[in-house]
Parts: sequence; C-alpha cells; structure tokens
Amino acid sequence: MKVTREFIEKMPKTDLHVHLDGSLRLSTILDLAQQQGVALPENPKDEKALAKVIRMGAICEDLRDYLKAFDITLSVLQTEESLYRAAFELAEDAAKENVRYMEVRYSPLLHTRNGLSFPVIVEAVAEGLREAKRKYGIMTGQIICGIRHITPESSLRLAELCVAFKHRGVVGFDLAGAEADNPPKDHQAAFDLIRNNNVNLTIHAGEAYGPESIHQAIHMCGAHRIGHGTRLREDGDLLNFVNDHRIPLEVCVTSNVQTRACDSFESHPLPFYMSYGIRCTINTDNRLVTDTTMTEEFWRCVQHYNLGVGDLRKLMIDGFKSSFMPYRKKRTVMAMAVEEFDSLVADFAAMQGAPASEYAPNVAQEIGSQFSRFQSQLPEDPSELLAEKAPKVEKKEAPRAKKKR
Ligand SMILES: [Zn+2]
Repeated sequence: MKVTREFIEKMPKTDLHVHLDGSLRLSTILDLAQQQGVALPENPKDEKALAKVIRMGAICEDLRDYLKAFDITLSVLQTEESLYRAAFELAEDAAKENVRYMEVRYSPLLHTRNGLSFPVIVEAVAEGLREAKRKYGIMTGQIICGIRHITPESSLRLAELCVAFKHRGVVGFDLAGAEADNPPKDHQAAFDLIRNNNVNLTIHAGEAYGPESIHQAIHMCGAHRIGHGTRLREDGDLLNFVNDHRIPLEVCVTSNVQTRACDSFESHPLPFYMSYGIRCTINTDNRLVTDTTMTEEFWRCVQHYNLGVGDLRKLMIDGFKSSFMPYRKKRTVMAMAVEEFDSLVADFAAMQGAPASEYAPNVAQEIGSQFSRFQSQLPEDPSELLAEKAPKVEKKEAPRAKKKR
C-alpha cells in the first residue's frame, strides 16, 4: 500500500511536544490584539503580514532567534479568556487531523504580566482543553515548563504548581528555553521536588547543546523523556543507554531544521535512530512558529526518509506508549488506535487495489524482522538459549589438610 497524505491525516496520532504559546492561529492573534488593544510590531494588517512578522516557518539563525516569535504570541496571552481560547483552538485543530492524545506545554510564568495567578492560568488552559474533549473527544494533558534562562527559583515555584495540579489536568514537568549556557542541573531544586512527588518529567535537551545536556537531564535530573535529543548521536555510549532503557525522544524534525539544530531534513538523525531501535515519537513543537501540523510532520518524514506503513505504525504506537497517560488507560487507548490504524490500512489498500498485509517497516528496526533474519542461527531447541553460557570451571578439590597425628 502506498502512503498518502490523506492516509496520514486520517490515522490516529499523538502530539507529545507542542507549545501552547507557539501554536496559536494567525487569525486569533490578530483578533486578540484588537480586542485587548495590544500593538503588534510592524502593525500587521492581515494574516499574511503577521506570518511575515513572526517569520512563520522561516529558517532562523539559532534557537534564541527562533524564540523571538514568542514575544508576539505572549503579548496577547495575558488574560484568562485568551488562554482558554488558545488551548481550545489548539486541541480543536489537532482533533481535526485525528490527534487522539496531546500533551500541551507552556510556562505559566510567561502569562502573569497583567496579574494572573498561576492557578488561574492552569485552570483557564484546563477549561479550554476540557471543552475540546467534550466537543471532539480529544484526550489531553498539560505539561508545566520551567524556563532555563530565568532563575532556578522560578522553576521551583513552577514545580510546586505542577505538584499541586498533579492528577488535576497536569501530567508532567519540563524545562524549556534557551539551552546554551543554561544547563538543566542549575534547576536541580525544582527537579528534586518533581521526583520526590513522583511527577513525570521531560526535559528539552540535545537541541541547541550537545549530548552532555541529555546526560544531565537523565542522570542528574531524572528525565523520563527527552525533548528533541537531536545531538544524542554524538555520544554512542549515551545513545545505547537511552535505547536500552527505552527512553523516548520527542522528535520535532521541521523545528530542528528551522532552529538549525540540524542543517537539513536529510541530515536529521531520525532515520538512524529508528533503524537503531530507539523509541522515537513525532511531534510539532510549534504549529504556528514552525508552520506545521502532525500530518505535515509525518508527511515530511515519509517523503524524506521513505517511511512505509510499518514505520508509521511503529511511530504511532511509540507515541502512545511514550505518553504520560496512566498505564492501564494507555494500554486501552493504544489498542484502540492500533485497531483503527489497521482497519484504515485495509480501507486504503482496497481503494488502491494493493495488498494490505505488507507491514514490515522500511526504516524502523522491528523485532519480528530481526528474528526472521537470524532465525537460521537459532538452536532448534529454544531451551538451549537459556543454557548456561559461562565456561564451566573445573572444581579442584581443595588439598586435604593433613591429619594431625
Ligand atoms: Zn519545545
């Protein structure tokens, strides 16, 4: 079966790495600015002009340069109504391309300019997401972000907020912001609080800084997932640790090209990670600033990396597996997604007059294919595999003590 854009749009998906303040609609920014009397830079008259000011989808100098667009989006996100609306519309847009589960992240610290308190901010976003669930059935959770270029004390306050709202709409904590010169270990107190309260943790690492930041995120801060991990390939030992412990990477390919975390789609490590067996998930990062959707991200990967149906199925499953949903719920949701995916393949294959059964991935490592490739080397009796491999040590009899006469 041939993968088409339409198939990708219809398949069930997750988005585990998406920033609320980077994912507004252009029309909403213009609308909110007018309502609130906020002057936007260069006074854009329409969506096209605003897209230019934001440099939507443009290649930036680096991550810091990319983050400038957020000055504009944040200027209109300082009221309860605007937060509610942004959260609802993001979930609505995602639901319309069959994103079944989404984790929305943002830092409440950046929405307090007009005096909103942290709990009011979290509740406003939660209400927007709940409304989308009622209307479209999309499941969501919030991730609260500490900001690495703001003080560690503020990260601690945000960690406290995260702990207070655990199981009340918030599913995890993150550290975001300018990565270079701001190592995660500076925010240790926040991570300690998060860990002591059994809160899920993901950290932006290996995006604008080398694999050392991933090492710190995992070993010093206790991250359960890594945001990006683009530069993980520079440290083979750490790469194997991440793989062995099934630590998921939240891969955002288009955003990485845009922030110059890598030079091009072709040089992105995603296909290497997939072939190596690393647990990868596909994500948007910022629907507005990066000018993307989940469909677009998967479609670009299909075009650049020759992904087949089996690869998409694996990426989809890894998305659900890596989510911060409770285990039992996750199991049920994932089973439903797989069933939906398989019946969609059957429909598309029938439409294309192609066999539907060819599921072997083109790129991703799959246990099944690995097994068949090495089957000839397997012993006929599987119990031999369990037999002791260590060389047998001949027991030497201890010299007998001479009996005393
Ligand atoms: Zn991000």
